[in-house]
Amino acid sequence: MVSNVFTETSSIDRADDSLQVTHLTTWQVVRRLVHDHLMPRKKLLFSSFAAMGLSALATASLPFLMQQAADEVFLGKNEMMLYLLPVLVVVLVSLRAGASYFSAVGQAYIGNRIVADLRVEMFERLTQADLGWLQRTHSGRFVTSFMNDVMAIREAAGLTIVALGQNGLNVILLTGAMFYMDWRLAIFAVITIPGALHILGRQRRKVHVSATKTFQETGDLGILVAQTLTGIRVVKAYDREQHETERAKRIIDRTMEFLMRAVRTKASSGPIVEALTGIGFAAGIFYGGYQGIHGTLTAGHFMGFVTAAMLMYQPMKSVAALQTLLQEGVAAANRVFGIIDLDTRIVEKPGAQPLDVTAGEIRFDDVTFSYRDGETVLRDLSLTVPAGKRIALVGPSGAGKSTVLNLLLRFYDPQAGRVTVDGQNIEDCTISSVRLASALVTQEPVLFDDTIRANIMYGSEGASEEQVLAAAKAAVAHDFIMAFPKGYDTPVGEAGGMLSGGQRQRIAFARAMLRDAPILLLDEPTSSLDSESEAQIQDALDGLLKGRTVVMIAHRLSTVKKADVIHVMERGRIVESGTHAELVARNGAYARLHRTQFGGDDIVPPAQDPADAETAAKASSA
Ligand code: ATP
Repeated sequence: MVSNVFTETSSIDRADDSLQVTHLTTWQVVRRLVHDHLMPRKKLLFSSFAAMGLSALATASLPFLMQQAADEVFLGKNEMMLYLLPVLVVVLVSLRAGASYFSAVGQAYIGNRIVADLRVEMFERLTQADLGWLQRTHSGRFVTSFMNDVMAIREAAGLTIVALGQNGLNVILLTGAMFYMDWRLAIFAVITIPGALHILGRQRRKVHVSATKTFQETGDLGILVAQTLTGIRVVKAYDREQHETERAKRIIDRTMEFLMRAVRTKASSGPIVEALTGIGFAAGIFYGGYQGIHGTLTAGHFMGFVTAAMLMYQPMKSVAALQTLLQEGVAAANRVFGIIDLDTRIVEKPGAQPLDVTAGEIRFDDVTFSYRDGETVLRDLSLTVPAGKRIALVGPSGAGKSTVLNLLLRFYDPQAGRVTVDGQNIEDCTISSVRLASALVTQEPVLFDDTIRANIMYGSEGASEEQVLAAAKAAVAHDFIMAFPKGYDTPVGEAGGMLSGGQRQRIAFARAMLRDAPILLLDEPTSSLDSESEAQIQDALDGLLKGRTVVMIAHRLSTVKKADVIHVMERGRIVESGTHAELVARNGAYARLHRTQFGGDDIVPPAQDPADAETAAKASSA
């Protein structure tokens, strides 16, 4: 075991781990699970409890049978009882077996149903959550909540149901039986229980802390695995395999240590209860034996009492240790509820109307926006995109170009000002209608691990086969798709990894084409391609742009020149606007940017027809 793991801080920063936001107590967690997940299935729950009750009753009857066996068969020589008692035992034991089976299946169903419900709730929350929050929290963390945390909740729920239903009933009935047989003996047997409960209460906190830390570390491991696999090419290229393995080992060691702390504390709960109750039982046996020798207690009563005490031992341990055992579930529930209870900032106003796109004119009126307090990203930005026109946003990195697209899609709301489409403030419209009005094509096309057809149809699920083919043809993708043996049914692999960059991009174009939205948002979809691939998809892009209002973030001169108006952004403001020729002639910010970003050699007086950067580069190298 690594000795200094606790002195090292985790290599993964969890300062922004919003999954730790809820701090519900054990009681609050139990109440919520009962209210939200058990009560809706109360019929099954109470049937399980009834089965447990039956099983407990059968168990509690056994001591009386023992008493009868000793008193009537051995001492009273009653032959009739000799035949009756074994039959009764068989009946009771069979009843108990049947009831145990039913309660075990019922309880497992309820536990697994809780897991399924929580997973669905979490998934729903994640898909609806604000982009800003999702970007702050690592996806690996969510995966561990889905896989790990909910299972811990299931364990805890199962324990609680069994502890309260079966074992709790057993304890009550057997205690009743003991008091019924001899209350003085019974007092001896149970006198130490309050002391045991008090000690166990103190153990609870320790288990809670260890469990919380274990879950955090497991989450960190999830992050590390996801991050390493995503960046595996860089990990290998920079020879960091050993370094990443060491990092994983440190997290795994820390998890193991926290786990063992919890295990040690939990494992000590049993012996504590055992030792204390054992003392009580010993006192009871001594008192019972003394009464047997000097008093009136019969052997049968004594046997019955000892049987009850022995049968109660195991269930009582389970009930008494429940608080401690529940702590892992409580810690896990706090993480899961942290996701489920998340507040979203982007919400639909009551009575929001669907956005009605008539022409497709976009306006930003004095928009001010910041992702974080004190860091203004857009400042009093005003911008108009006339219907059916194309505007290009250019500017240095971090100027706020992508933020303009984020606001248009209502991933965020501006702090001041408004964004309108055909005169309607998008904040007053339904979120889905705002998003359906636009098709977004990003720099890095996003493909899902599914077939080419499913990827093209993403967001246009009702489209016909002809429409899919037409979109793929328009995106110049049909021929390469048909060259695959499985054609449109070819799986694209994780993140489209089985396709080339140009192929991925053409599928993304086909998706946007099929969506046929009046507004097109392009985050320079050709900038990650080489000139040859770019040339191949230019036709596809031109087809996509036709007849739509287009906002494009441009990194290449060829894209910039397609725009009707170019807006130059710097630090969240538009500093220059005009056509390429006008802006070059002005020799201001655009011309400066041009020299650094687009190569610059082609900046020539407008009269001489400014050439494309690539053409200029080719010419100069020829
Ligand atoms: P690039 O050309 O490099 O993509 P950009 O002009 O598109 O840059 P934006 O992505 O709009 O720039 O970012 C503008 C500013 O907002 C940057 O300073 C960036 O650090 C910040 N920013 C962007 N996204 C977030 C986010 N999710 N949370 C916090 N800050 C962000």
